[in-house]
Amino acid sequence: MSEALTLRPLGIFGGTFDPVHCGHLRLAEEAADALALDTVRWIPAGQPPARLRPPLASARQRLEMVRRAIDGNARFEIDAGEVEADQTSYTVLTLERLRLPTVCGTARPLVLLTGADAFAGMSSWHRWERLFELAHVAVACRPGYSIQADSLPPALAEVYRQRLCDDPAELSEAPAGRIVSFAMTPLGISATRIREALAKRTSPRYLLPDAVLDYIHLHSLYQES
Ligand code: ATP
Ligand code: MG
Repeated sequence: MSEALTLRPLGIFGGTFDPVHCGHLRLAEEAADALALDTVRWIPAGQPPARLRPPLASARQRLEMVRRAIDGNARFEIDAGEVEADQTSYTVLTLERLRLPTVCGTARPLVLLTGADAFAGMSSWHRWERLFELAHVAVACRPGYSIQADSLPPALAEVYRQRLCDDPAELSEAPAGRIVSFAMTPLGISATRIREALAKRTSPRYLLPDAVLDYIHLHSLYQES
């Protein structure tokens, strides 16, 4: 494989995916095009940090739903590392694992994919400043959330101003450290709304893949309000 090919950026997409839905799928698909990503590696959180609401579906079930959702997409792959680890899922630890020589090594550009809401909360993440030494960060628009420096916490706004770059091609020039934003088809879909629809016995069909909805029904997930 040529040097240029080996250095194409790898997208990293973490989340609770409780359940995975079409907003997630479009984010990853559009990021792959907009940022010329080789592959997007989906990493469901095993045990999200205590500050987040605990997921309703188990880690294994959320992993299986992602597996079904991305099945057949040659640019997508799944990483069960956080689900299998017996510890709180911190993105910084996951990126440190990916940087091991036996995994991705230190040269390959990694791009952490986030929606605007997740990015705005990033300065509350464990060892958050270290994240920019390990990966680039790409921020997707999400209806109802803006990506303005003025509306970010001050420390994150400072990092955002320093690291923001306009041209996604720059992501291939360094392994980590830049921030890009990219436009995606605005989709007002959230896992919260899907869980609410299921609890009310209304249909979330077409907000998520049929294969995921079938799994949800098979395992009677999200039925309690
Ligand atoms: P919940 O409502 O339970 O918080 P969610 O829909 O926000 O679920 P998460 O698993 O929390 O899904 O999100 C994983 C990532 O996907 C986050 O970076 C989030 O910002 C992003 N994301 C989720 N839904 C969308 C969407 N509709 N458009 C753009 N980004 C999204
Ligand atoms: Mg969320």
